[in-house]
Amino acid sequence: MTTDCSSVAYFSMEIALDPALPTYSGGLGVLAGDMLRAAADLGVSMVGIALVQRKGYFDQHLDDLGNQSESPTAWEPEKVVEPMLPVVTVRIEGRDVRVRAWRFLIKGLGGHVVPVYLLDTALPENSPWEQKLTDSLYGGDAHYRLCQEMVLGLGGVAILPELGHSLISSYHMNEGHSALLTLGLLEERLEGRALSSATEEDIHAIRAKCVFTTHTPVPAGQDQFPHDLVSRVLGEERTAALEVTGACPAGSLNMTYLALFGSRYINGVAMQHGEVSRGMFPNYPIRAITNGVHAVTWMSPAFGDLFDRHIPEWRHDNLYLRYAIGIGTSEIREAHVQAKRRMVAELKQRTGVQLDEKVLTIGFARRAATYKRADLIFRNLDRLRWIATHCGPIQIVFGGKAHPSDVGGKDLIRRIFESAAALKDVIKVVYIENYDWRVAPLLYAGADLWLNTPQRPQEASGTSGMKAALNGVPSFSVMDGWWVEGCLEGITGWAIGHGPESPDDEVFEIAALYDKLEMIILPMFYGRPTAYAEVMRSAIAINGSFFNTQRMLSQYLANAYFRPAVA
Ligand SMILES: *Cc1c(COP(=O)(O)O)cnc(C)c1O
Repeated sequence: MTTDCSSVAYFSMEIALDPALPTYSGGLGVLAGDMLRAAADLGVSMVGIALVQRKGYFDQHLDDLGNQSESPTAWEPEKVVEPMLPVVTVRIEGRDVRVRAWRFLIKGLGGHVVPVYLLDTALPENSPWEQKLTDSLYGGDAHYRLCQEMVLGLGGVAILPELGHSLISSYHMNEGHSALLTLGLLEERLEGRALSSATEEDIHAIRAKCVFTTHTPVPAGQDQFPHDLVSRVLGEERTAALEVTGACPAGSLNMTYLALFGSRYINGVAMQHGEVSRGMFPNYPIRAITNGVHAVTWMSPAFGDLFDRHIPEWRHDNLYLRYAIGIGTSEIREAHVQAKRRMVAELKQRTGVQLDEKVLTIGFARRAATYKRADLIFRNLDRLRWIATHCGPIQIVFGGKAHPSDVGGKDLIRRIFESAAALKDVIKVVYIENYDWRVAPLLYAGADLWLNTPQRPQEASGTSGMKAALNGVPSFSVMDGWWVEGCLEGITGWAIGHGPESPDDEVFEIAALYDKLEMIILPMFYGRPTAYAEVMRSAIAINGSFFNTQRMLSQYLANAYFRPAVA
């Protein structure tokens, strides 16, 4: 593989490549991996760029009270991925830092290969500190993070041609972490001339190549770096060039603004998130392409077998999942029973808790960030106890890591443990430690109901509910992110509270959650199992056939990659 036809280069701080590799932290990385897996299946010419993250994100440990501690989750690239020869340099804080790449190959169903390059600074020519730059995902302070973003954006642009990828038609920034690639492209175009000599035409030429997907609907979530740090690390000339882009409002370099400035196509990750983003950045033409998930990756073996029998084309063409609507409800239920049994067995093995296969099992697993409000279902324990005793038994499975410096997220986990202890005579609650790609699929397929209670409008998209839908697990969710589009009330699942047209109202949402559980969901689950199985089946046919990365990638192809520049 020395040359290629024109490709899309997909840059992401995290990419989930394999369940055993800790190169991601959550949804953003899983999305990146799913996108590239879809490209491999569809024969699209793409390459991925990320950092090697030798120490990964982290392993989560929880004590009996739910206190989280962390340990590094080191892996050895030497044993898993292939070293590439080229070495490029990135000038960081006045020193030349050497960067090389490891190659991971994603093979598609038809044999097409998408290479992913994991950048690495652990080379003997670099200082010990520089060698650690590609170690820890979202670790360290702002200084460390900015240096990592230089390696990703500038190193990635420099190394692609050396690796044989010299015809890149689009550079896609998956979130703002890779926004410095725009600067790298400008420097490449100027061939050593001063950045201050760049003309409007030069800027246009860079913009014509760049695509930006924003994922953050709250300003506080954006990557920002103080001016002194930026000028120290990037140098005076680059800092001056960044200042003229408008990416430094209030003196800080804001990576979202840089990416907005440097891109010809910009999108949010669900229709509603596009709307919210246009409100945040009114000066930019922001579109929306709703996220999806890689169906083959997230399908449980039981449902995979069922679809292979009825609609074997589903693997290479996910649209065929639409025809799940013709499969008998008894077969849907039987496949789900198998998936649930698998989850129950794994949970027993990991935690010692024996869940009951007959009991309605609610799943809630995602990063333990405060806005996701994992504890919303526990806001009125008396009411929840009453519901579980009078309308039918409930058990709940939780999972999720808090970022090591997120005090609020860690607190949230402790609160869940407290509520679990308070409920223990009535409702079994399991919190599974170290939630990651290895355990996640068991929960998405094994739960009976997938709960999602973010504070609106902070969930840009959310993807775990899409993975549940593929496996016939209906969502029960606040109307945010993808669910605004995916919710057909009583058909694909149930809404909690009002839609985006009304203001966020936590008290109302809590009441709506309990009301629907009590009056609609539990009576249907225990009293009308066939009706419940029809909801499961529609979740697959209506949502599984749409909220997948085949559809998503084809939308990026049609709207972002091969479309004339947007004025
Ligand atoms: C899908 C997935 C996520 C993202 O879930 P959200 O619902 O978007 O929060 C996070 N972690 C893992 C391991 C996943 O598979």
